[in-house]
Amino acid sequence: MTIQTTEHAILAEQDPAIAQLVNQEFDRQMTTLQLIASENFVSEAVLAASGTVLTNKYSEGYPGRRYYGGNQVVDQVEDLARDRLKELFGAEHANVQPHAGANANLAAYMALLNPGDTVLAMKLDHGGHLTHGSPANVTSKVWRFVDYGLTRATDDGLGERIDFDMVRDRALAERPKLIVAGATAYSRIIDAKIFREIADEVGARLMFDAAHPAGLIAGGVHPSPVGIADVVTFTTHKTLRGPRGGAILCNADLAKKIDSAIFPGLQGGPLEHAIAAKAVAFQEALRPEFKVYSAKIVENAKAFADAMRQEGFRLVAGGTDNHIVLVDLQTFDAELTGKEAQEILDLAGITCNRNTIPDDPRSPFVTSGLRFGTPATTTTGMGIAEMATIAQLISRTLRHRSDAGTVAVIRAEVATLCTEFPPYGDR
Ligand SMILES: *Cc1c(COP(=O)(O)O)cnc(C)c1O
Repeated sequence: MTIQTTEHAILAEQDPAIAQLVNQEFDRQMTTLQLIASENFVSEAVLAASGTVLTNKYSEGYPGRRYYGGNQVVDQVEDLARDRLKELFGAEHANVQPHAGANANLAAYMALLNPGDTVLAMKLDHGGHLTHGSPANVTSKVWRFVDYGLTRATDDGLGERIDFDMVRDRALAERPKLIVAGATAYSRIIDAKIFREIADEVGARLMFDAAHPAGLIAGGVHPSPVGIADVVTFTTHKTLRGPRGGAILCNADLAKKIDSAIFPGLQGGPLEHAIAAKAVAFQEALRPEFKVYSAKIVENAKAFADAMRQEGFRLVAGGTDNHIVLVDLQTFDAELTGKEAQEILDLAGITCNRNTIPDDPRSPFVTSGLRFGTPATTTTGMGIAEMATIAQLISRTLRHRSDAGTVAVIRAEVATLCTEFPPYGDR
């Protein structure tokens, strides 16, 4: 498939090498299944706002308090983005400048902590994020992270939930200054209220990292942590379906600290073209259709989970309440690693990522699990029937992984399915 827009024609004339690669990536996105839980397809309007002359403008500071001239128009763009975001989540204060979710988290830590302070966050191999104190991440070098995990797996599927007894015990023992709720690979609802009670019990602040469920919260299918947590950070490009980037919400009393942590604390000039695209996405999320979309994401995830279970896969946490399905490959095929499964599925045009399962016997580079998500396929209009089809395609691919002919046949079936659900009309 090729991009037919005027903008692309200009790019092709000026820089054929990059234009060709953009085209190849467009073709990949249009003809393979996008099941990575943190990805989505933005609207044409979001794409259009991202590629504007706003990229030319320096606007260090905040609306009305910039360090450069000529920001009369840009101020209005950023104000619109902030107002829409506050309306969307019912928040007192919004910062739309974080270049990414990681920056939003760093800024929240900088605003709430001194170097060396203790933070209690979810164990990485139970679903926590790199920025929640991974040894490889700067967060673990500046602050002292201690962790909580999930309960043990049980046959009734009620295990592998956040272990709140453990959260409380660890909080009482470690007296953290901040507790972090939120995960990158957790398929169940995260209740901010229980975290709040524990945080209050030990006098800690509470940060909710809503990078994954932000869109589900906006759409009303996941309870909102806004007003419960002191700070809510998130990405704008996952379930929220905006451009790549981050944002922070907080109460008025923390507004100044959060804003100063982003600028001048952590970042330089904001990406105003990205902020314009965020504003467009927030407007889309305010529409009633977004509630329908969010409900469909969850409905599709449940249908996909059921179909995967029928194919013989064990689901971590027994299923899903959100857009994520975390699959344990060990019952399906004890020999099959997450790494091998991800690679063979890639050949079949099924894009997902390998993931550790709780207490994974294999290394994080190899893993015993796969993580799937339904935001992108739901955007294309796929429904319950397609979710069952996709589960069968995955199972067939993995069962016939040593048979290149079968994998090629599946790759063609995947392409046909994708062309029936194009996310971008006739782009
Ligand atoms: C994706 C994610 C982030 C980081 O977002 P980036 O935009 O990739 O920096 C932070 N926290 C959690 C829980 C995430 O899932």
